[in-house]
Amino acid sequence: MELAGRCSSCGKNIYCRDGFLDGVINNKSELLCYTCSELKGSDEEKEIK
Ligand SMILES: [Zn+2]
Repeated sequence: MELAGRCSSCGKNIYCRDGFLDGVINNKSELLCYTCSELKGSDEEKEIK
């Protein structure tokens, strides 16, 4: 496992496992863990105000 970076929301370390990133990169090029990406909504069309 390689450290890919940190979640820009909660600061959790995000690793690369067997070539798969253990998180997501949103349209602002921010790295997010799955938990935070689900909380924020993975649908980039949504606007949260
Ligand atoms: Zn997070």
